[in-house]
Amino acid sequence: MTLQAQATEDRLEAWEPVIGLEIHLQLATKTKMFCRCRLEFGAAPNTHVCPVCLAHPGVLPVPNRRAVDYAIMIGLALNCEIAERTTFSRKNYFYADSPKAYQISQYEDPICGPGYLDVPDGEGGSFRVGITRAHMEEDAAKLVHAGSSGRIADSSHSFVDFNRVGTPLVEVVTDPDIRTPEQAKRFLTLLKNTIETIAVSDCNMEEGSLRCDANISIRPRGATELGTKTELKNMNSFRFIERGIHAELARQVDLVERGQEVEQETLHYDPTTGAIRSLRSKELAHDYRYFPEPDLVPIEVTPEHIERVRADMAELPLARMARFEEAYGLSTYDAEVLNLSSDTADFYETTVALTTDADHKLVANWTMGELLALQKEGVVVTPEALAGVVDLVATKKISGAVGKEVLGRVAREGGDPAEIVEREGLAQVSDEGALRSVIEGLLDANPKQVEQYKGGKESLVGFFVGGVMKAMQGKADPGAAKALIVELLEAR
Ligand SMILES: [Zn+2]
Repeated sequence: MTLQAQATEDRLEAWEPVIGLEIHLQLATKTKMFCRCRLEFGAAPNTHVCPVCLAHPGVLPVPNRRAVDYAIMIGLALNCEIAERTTFSRKNYFYADSPKAYQISQYEDPICGPGYLDVPDGEGGSFRVGITRAHMEEDAAKLVHAGSSGRIADSSHSFVDFNRVGTPLVEVVTDPDIRTPEQAKRFLTLLKNTIETIAVSDCNMEEGSLRCDANISIRPRGATELGTKTELKNMNSFRFIERGIHAELARQVDLVERGQEVEQETLHYDPTTGAIRSLRSKELAHDYRYFPEPDLVPIEVTPEHIERVRADMAELPLARMARFEEAYGLSTYDAEVLNLSSDTADFYETTVALTTDADHKLVANWTMGELLALQKEGVVVTPEALAGVVDLVATKKISGAVGKEVLGRVAREGGDPAEIVEREGLAQVSDEGALRSVIEGLLDANPKQVEQYKGGKESLVGFFVGGVMKAMQGKADPGAAKALIVELLEAR
C-alpha cells in the first residue's frame, strides 16, 4: 500500500466511501453508429466523414446492426436484462464537437437494464457491483487544442477532427456499490477483461476506446443516506483512477472534518501533480432537454435475436476461472491471476496442451512467474518454448534456475530448449558422485557454518544448497543436493 493510500485508509475509519463508475466503451465495429463511414484510429483528420455524420440538412441516421448486437453482448456479459423494445433519444447540447448540436443517445428505454458483476476480491471471495444500465450512443468529434500544452485554457485556437464523431459507444453505469479505490480498480480490470474476451471493444485507454468517470461521495459509517457526490472525469489508466479516487476521498474527508460541505461538481485529477481541479460546478450543469429521437424507430429485440448473439460469445473470464480450478486443479488464486487477461489464460491453456510431462500446477507457476516477468521486459515468449522448458524441468533434466535461463534465451534468440540444453551441457547433475565431491568441498571450506548447523541452526541448509548451485552453475538438482547436504552434515 502506498503512503497516500495508507493515509486515506486511516482517515476513512469514520467515513464510508460510496463510489459508482461510468464507463464509455468504443465499439470495435468497422463503421460508425448511424452512417457507413469507416472507423480508423489515427487516420488523417476529417477523412472519414459524410453528410450523415457531419449533420448536413435532410440526412437520416440508420443504426449499425453490428453495434446493436455488440451492445446486447455487453449486456449479457454483465448479467443485464435486455430490453424487448429500446428507443433512442436526443441529448441536446451546443459545442464544437457536435455538428448536430445534439448527441443520439438512449434515455428512457436503454437496451440493457439492471445487471451485476461478481468481482474477485483477491482473497478467494468476491464482491458484487450492480449495473444500473448500459446504453448505446454516439461519440463526439475530437477537439485538438493548438498553440499550448494541449489544454484548452492556454491555447490560441482549436481544430476539430470529425473522424471520431458518430463512433458507436456503449456507456456502462454501475450502482454506487464500490467501497474502496482498490475495488474500483478490481472491477475495471474484470470489466476490461470481459469486454476484451467478447471482442466488442479493444479497450485501449490511451486511444480513448475505454474511458472512465467516477462518482464519489462519503458518508458517516453506518449511515444509509448518500452524501453529495462529485464526478471525477476522464482518467486514462486504472492506476490513475485508483489514485484519483484516493485523492478525492481525502479532499472530501478534509472538507467535512473542517465543518465545510462537499459541493456537487465535476473534477479533473492531474496524475503528475496529484491535484484535483474543478472543471465546472453545479450552477453550470447542463440541462440536456432529452426527447425521443424522431428519426429512428424503436428497436425490437426478440428472444431469438438474444440467443443468436449469446451463441457467438466466447467463454467469459469468471466462467473460465471456475473451469481452471475444476479442470486443472488450480487454486482460486492461481485461476484468478491466469485470468487477469484473456491472453494469459489462452497462453496457459495452449502451453498445457503442448506439455507431455509437466503437471498443470507447474505450468501455472511458470506462466504466472517467468512468462509475465519476460513479457514485462517486452520479450515475446511462445507457448512452445515454455512447454519445452517446463517439460525439461518436470523430468528433472534441468533445474529451475537453468530453465529460466534457457527460456529467456529461446525467447530472445529462438531455438529449441532441449537442443540448447544438449548442446551446451546444461543438463542437471543428480549424479551422486559429482554432487558429493562438490558438497564435501563446500563443507570443508565453511567450517563455521557447519558448526552453527550442528549447534541447531538448521536453516543453514539453504546456504549450502545455494553454494552447491553456484559451484555447479545452476546445474545441480536442488532436491537431490539438499538431501545429500543434510546427510553429509549429519555425518560430521
Ligand atoms: Zn459518416
